[in-house]
Parts: sequence; C-alpha cells; structure tokens
Amino acid sequence: MKFSELKIAEPLLKALSEKGYTTPTPIQQKAIPSILERKDILGCAQTGTGKTAAFAIPIIQQINAFEKFDRKPLIRALIVTPTRELAIQIDENIKAYSKHTSIRHSVIFGGVKQGKQVDQLKRGVHILTATPGRLLDLIDQGFISLKDLKIFVLDEADRMLDMGFINDIKKLLKIIPEKRQSLFFSATMPDNIVKLSNTILNNPIKIEVTPVSSTAETIKQFVYYTNRTSKPELLLHIIKERNIEQVLIFTRTKHGADRVARRLTKQGVKASSIHGDKAQNQRQKALKMFKEGDVRVLVATDIAARGIDIDKLQYVINYEVPNMPETYVHRIGRSGRAGENGTAISMCEPEENIDLTNIQKLIGNKIEVAENEKFPQTDKPMTEAEKKEWQKEKQRRKQEFFANRKAGKEKRGGGKSSRGGNNRKNTTKKKQTETSQRENRNEGRRKDTDSKPAEHSKTNHSNQENKSSQKPSSNRRSKNSSNKSKRRFKSTDASDKLKNKFMWPLE
Ligand code: AMP
Repeated sequence: MKFSELKIAEPLLKALSEKGYTTPTPIQQKAIPSILERKDILGCAQTGTGKTAAFAIPIIQQINAFEKFDRKPLIRALIVTPTRELAIQIDENIKAYSKHTSIRHSVIFGGVKQGKQVDQLKRGVHILTATPGRLLDLIDQGFISLKDLKIFVLDEADRMLDMGFINDIKKLLKIIPEKRQSLFFSATMPDNIVKLSNTILNNPIKIEVTPVSSTAETIKQFVYYTNRTSKPELLLHIIKERNIEQVLIFTRTKHGADRVARRLTKQGVKASSIHGDKAQNQRQKALKMFKEGDVRVLVATDIAARGIDIDKLQYVINYEVPNMPETYVHRIGRSGRAGENGTAISMCEPEENIDLTNIQKLIGNKIEVAENEKFPQTDKPMTEAEKKEWQKEKQRRKQEFFANRKAGKEKRGGGKSSRGGNNRKNTTKKKQTETSQRENRNEGRRKDTDSKPAEHSKTNHSNQENKSSQKPSSNRRSKNSSNKSKRRFKSTDASDKLKNKFMWPLE
C-alpha cells in the first residue's frame, strides 16, 4: 500500500516522501482513513509503530483543508503527552509533515521558562502539543484558549496515569469543547485506561496494532542471569563482547542512572544520563549528543526516556529488570522501531527473577538466556527477613548520605560571608528545582522508583487494580461515565452526523 491510497493531500505526500517514507505502517493504514472521516479513535499501540504520523498526518490534512489562513491562527488541535521529550518529538514530526502548508504549530512543556512559549502562543498556533502541567498553568494564566478546539489527542494514556496526571486530565476534559474529535492512544489497555477512554471518546474505532502483551517482533530478547554486585562488570562485558556502538540503558532510579553513566565513563565508555532531576536543557543536550553519536551510552529512567525516538537504535539494556511487566514492553520498544532490527538485553539479579517470570507471562514468550560463564547468578533471592534487614540497611545508608551532605555543606560555609557569594547559585538552583518540581513530584508518584521499594510499589499497583476491580465502585463509575456520555451524545449516530456536519469549517 502507498500513502497516496489513503487519500492524503499533495502537500503532505510531498513531505512524507521527503522524509523517506514510502509505505504507511499498519497503524497508519488503519487510523488515517478513520481520522479523516472524523471518527474517534481508541488506539492500542506501542511507540515505534508510527503512531505519531498516524494521528499527525490526518490532523494536518483536516486543518489544511478547512482552516481560514487569513487570520490569526486558533488552536484547532491539542495533543497532550506525558513527557517533554515526547512533546518535543511530536512537534518536530508535525513540523516535518506540515512543511508545505501554512499550518502553525508549537510545543509547550515545563522545566523551562515560559516566555518563548507564551510569545509563540500570542502569535497564534493551529496545532499545540503539550505536557499537562504547563498546559494547565498557561490556561490558568489566560495565554491559551481551547474554545475553538476541534481535535483532542491523548497520547500515551497509560503512562499519563502512571505518572499521576489523572487529575490534570480530568481538569482538562472540563475545559475542552464537548463537540470535538478525540483520539486516544495507549500502549497498554488495563481497566482504568479503558474507563478513562470511555469518558473521552464517542463511539470510537478501535485500532490495535500489536497485542497489548506482545513485544515488537523485530526485537531479539536476551537475559543474563547474574548477581547484583556483578552488574557493573557484566555491563561493560556485554558492551564490549557484543561490540555495541550505541545503547540506551534503563535504570530504575535517578541516582542509579547517574551511577551507571559515571562508572562507564570512568571505564572509557562515553556515557551520559537523563532523568527528572536534570534541567530540561541538560536533558535535551544529552539526547542530542546521543542521537548524533557523540555519546555511546545513554542511561535513562523510564520517565525521562518515555517515547524518545532514536533512529536506528539497535540496543536497549535493562540494567535493572522493571517490576511492572508493561514497563518492560515500553522499554524494549525503544529499539527495533518502525521495522528496524533491535536487541533488548536484561540483566537479572536474584531479586528480579520473579519480575522476569511475570514479564514472560505477559509477553507470552520465554526470553532467551544468554551464556554468562563469567558473571553467573550464584546468589539466592533474599528471604523475607533478609529483605527487611536490607531495607533497613538501605535506609541507614540514605540517612548517612544526607547527614554527610548536610555536614559538608555546613563545613563549606553556611555563615554570613558565604551567603552573599552563594546567593546567585542558590537562586538558580532554586529556580531549577521549582521548574522541575512538578515532574519530580510525578516521578515520585510513580510505582517503580528509588523512593519506593519494589515490593511496596507492586503492592500499590495491585491495590489500585484491586480497587478498580471492586465491583460496587467500578459499577458506579462505569454507570456514571455512560450516563455522562449519554448526556453528551444523546444518540450516537445522530450526534456523529451532526458532529461531522458542523465540525469543520467553523468560525
Ligand atoms: P512513532 O511510533 O510515532 O514514535 O514512530 C517511530 C519511528 O518510525 C519514527 O522514527 C518515525 O519517524 C518512523 N516512521 C513513522 N512512519 C513511518 C513510515 N511510514 N515509514 C518509515 N518510518 C516511519
């Protein structure tokens, strides 16, 4: 199949061919015609399947066809996505696909000053890509009006909820017009996501390009069973033995990401890290250097790496096996994108054996065990008592670390004379902290972070699932949501027709 068979307009076809795309990916084949018919979409697709273009192309096409370009642009499409990196990437895609049109687009996200973003908004945009926090901030400040919105996209909905954005989404849903086209994408479709989608979508077309539990077919998967203490050496061994030119490594924690990157750099492998504690420009710089091949290894936490699109990335390494199987699917989806070959390697310590078993259950496959004579797994998983002891020890070390840091700071001079000299530094630091506060808060809320031990986070997760599966509340909720949708769309067929008739072109 060719893009031209999907009734895509000339300016877009030209842009696509300049990008080197010849054939639409499966999700594009399925989604583009339906979106052009102004249907709502419930898309179950991982990143790497071409889903950005699947929604961006028909959005651009609709605006290009129906918009009046002789006035200040109104926001006609809003794409909400959980992370800044993903937002920037989506906007870059929109820029490429809309280059032969007069469409104006922009991206807003937290962690940076708002001035430039506000300037662009003041000049007017047709397509706005945003992370939830900054979007609501700028709406509150009166810089964004969504009253003329026609298309609403919620991207990576499962991550959005994982990151604690549910209340932001609910607030947003109250602001955007009820008469709109909605496109909803999620890599996984647990119950809470389906429920959320019910409150947003009207009679959607369901598109699923890869089953929830399956990983991209083009990705080879291996596991190295090892001991916790052997991981640093094993990592270096894997990189050298496999002659890995570029690799994205996942750690569970922000400190862990820094530690791994530091150690590798010391060992002569150029590495940098990205995570929520780093300022946005540092993250962008690290990502850029990695994309351009200046850095061989990028170590990232799940949130920071969410959705980042690195062309032809062949290797992903799980330095720690994630304790949520869906996270594994997300992580390894960074490689083998759009049909490229990829390899995902997991380094599994005894405590993570159970996590790996759960992952294999979810993906319905056994992951191939790599030969590992040098650093084999010889330890046994901890007993409950040992785990408790270990948690205590971890806590003690943490306290010791912070106490030492505090003592060091005081020694360096908390007195009057130094206050003046450090003032600017402190203010900058304070600003940085403030700007990344929201994200850190969200990162803190996640289920598999440093601050929460694995067991705890798993309990949280299952608690949440249990809650949503408790019959009375779920019944109540689904009843409410169906009532709500009934209120909004009295007769689905009729409202569909109305919607199609009056949606575009509009003042
Ligand atoms: P996404 O799932 O949107 O993150 O896209 C994954 C990657 O596939 C990105 O690098 C896109 O630029 C690329 N891509 C999207 N559509 C196509 C296509 N039809 N042909 C080739 N590459 C594509």
